[in-house]
Amino acid sequence: MKTIYETFSPEETKRLGRQIGKAAEPGDVYTLIGDLGVGKTVFTKGIAEGLSIEEDICSPTFTIVQIYESGRIPFYHFDVYRISDIAEMDEIGYEDYFYGDGLAMIEWGNLIEEILPVKRRDITIEKDIEKGFDYRRITISEVGI
Ligand code: ADP
Ligand code: MG
Repeated sequence: MKTIYETFSPEETKRLGRQIGKAAEPGDVYTLIGDLGVGKTVFTKGIAEGLSIEEDICSPTFTIVQIYESGRIPFYHFDVYRISDIAEMDEIGYEDYFYGDGLAMIEWGNLIEEILPVKRRDITIEKDIEKGFDYRRITISEVGI
């Protein structure tokens, strides 16, 4: 199933993330794709809030994964944009996170397609300038679910 949401402010995008965080169950996996400045971090901060994580979410760009354990369930926040070899994922033991006890969210997950769980949800955030500067289309597709 594919669901399309439209938001018109950062607050609305954050709220959608918050809903996902609130509803998350252990083992949930999301990928997140969208150009620079589209709202991936805004959305991710919402997820963290929904999981009742108190710390500030920062980009995991230089570490591949950032782990937050202060919330209702663990939050594994990946950014695989700069991965050059899939072996880097093995080195960090990604399976413990993808098939674990928390919510895993993988920014640019399409780059590691071959190791993504068959059951997951893919999220794409896009702008459409014709609909306004703050407009975002957020598509959530269920894969294998
Ligand atoms: P990314 O992590 O994808 O690079 P950020 O979340 O860091 O992007 O930044 C998104 C920027 O877009 C923020 O400055 C935010 O205020 C702005 N923005 C405007 N409208 C929206 C919207 N509807 N949803 C999310 N962010 C929006
Ligand atoms: Mg970001």
